[in-house]
Amino acid sequence: MTARAKPSPDILIAGAGIAGLAAAIALARTGRTVTLLEKRAASSEEGAGIQIGPNGSRILQSLGVAPNLAGKVAHPQSIRVMDGLTGRPLTQFPLGPDIAARHGAPYWSLHRADLHDALRTTAQSIPAITLRHAAELTGATQSGDTVTVHLADGETLNGPLVIGADGLWSTLRTHVLHSPSLTFTGKCALRTVLTATDVPPGISLTDTTIWLRPKAHVVHYPVRGGAELALVAIFDDADIGESWAHDADPASIATRAQAFPTALRDLLLTPTHWRQWSLYQPSGPITWMQNRIALIGDAAHPPLPFLAQGGVMALEDATVLASLLHGVPDSSIPACLAEFERLRRPRTTRVMEASARNGRAYHLDGLMRRARNAVLASTPPHLFMRQYDWLYGWRYEENT
Ligand SMILES: Cc1cc2nc3c(=O)[nH]c(=O)nc-3n(C[C@H](O)[C@H](O)[C@H](O)COP(=O)(O)OP(=O)(O)OC[C@H]3O[C@@H](n4cnc5c(N)ncnc54)[C@H](O)[C@@H]3O)c2cc1C
Repeated sequence: MTARAKPSPDILIAGAGIAGLAAAIALARTGRTVTLLEKRAASSEEGAGIQIGPNGSRILQSLGVAPNLAGKVAHPQSIRVMDGLTGRPLTQFPLGPDIAARHGAPYWSLHRADLHDALRTTAQSIPAITLRHAAELTGATQSGDTVTVHLADGETLNGPLVIGADGLWSTLRTHVLHSPSLTFTGKCALRTVLTATDVPPGISLTDTTIWLRPKAHVVHYPVRGGAELALVAIFDDADIGESWAHDADPASIATRAQAFPTALRDLLLTPTHWRQWSLYQPSGPITWMQNRIALIGDAAHPPLPFLAQGGVMALEDATVLASLLHGVPDSSIPACLAEFERLRRPRTTRVMEASARNGRAYHLDGLMRRARNAVLASTPPHLFMRQYDWLYGWRYEENT
């Protein structure tokens, strides 16, 4: 196919995941026109949940996405921490009305498909946003005030700014900004969703529950208003490579679950279908921007999923970037992107470090495991939760 350049004042965003859709909505709300390029032919978010802390639900409310989530969110009442060796409860941290009152926004848990549908429905209701599927960015070049993106089918598009919201395996990060590759962590995540009526006894349908075992942990929480339960199991495992959805073998999960406490074992034996992701982290510092190209979301700062904040950081990125670009001339875009990195890198680095620390603490063994359990059992839950005020209490205005 012959390449053709289309002059366009639109901001170009690669990737219509949480980061790309939220950025498109936030930018359009400030008067920008946006073309969103998504490589998948259609949306395919299935079989997994996502927790959205108050710092994220506040943004979904302010972007006008929340009405499209009506009836879809669940409000976990607490985080129950269980000893995954003995089956005993270790502690219970308040969520529900407590966290909503403390931070002025609720703690939600959702099915990923519902979050994506709500973001996409909102984006598609805004005339300033063009969402294109089967549009895979393969490269980008800059000349003067223009960035040209190249699509897999040979088409090229020009814009004053290109935002790489293309996720963990970002093409822009790797092939345009030449950041270092990702390293396998030795861990995998297995995910599924069960209908509430299939959930075995002894498993909470109203809380986020986390079971801690040496070299493994399991998290589950309600989604779809409590009609379903999302499960995530993290194990040490071999690398299965780049993938966002890989079928897992229920038999291997059953083998691992045999030694687990009864309620947890029965829960893990119930699903007939799991999906598996290998977990990676950056092998070195990521370059976030270059003149008129910037990365957001997992493309810029992929955290390990042990603080449930990667998607929320993508929402924060979207709102900060749109605010910085509000009303500025195109000539100021490079300066805005530099300011974006200055504001966002420290916080997202802190989240990545805290996520990795949680992962280490969750999987402790021997004396260290006992020490962790003793600290959890002896710390007043509301004091423990105050450690996370910096995270859940974040508001853009206050942080600039
Ligand atoms: C097991 C697990 C549990 C998690 N739990 C939570 C949680 O509870 N709470 C939370 O906040 N976060 C959680 N996360 C993290 C969260 O899923 C990610 O941080 C979030 O999905 C990142 O969004 P994104 O839009 O940056 O990337 P993605 O969701 O990966 O979206 C990237 C999009 O870009 C598209 N794309 C890729 N390449 C191209 C290209 N070249 N051209 C065009 N399009 C392209 C992809 O198809 C995709 O649609 C979890 C992650 C894992 C693995």
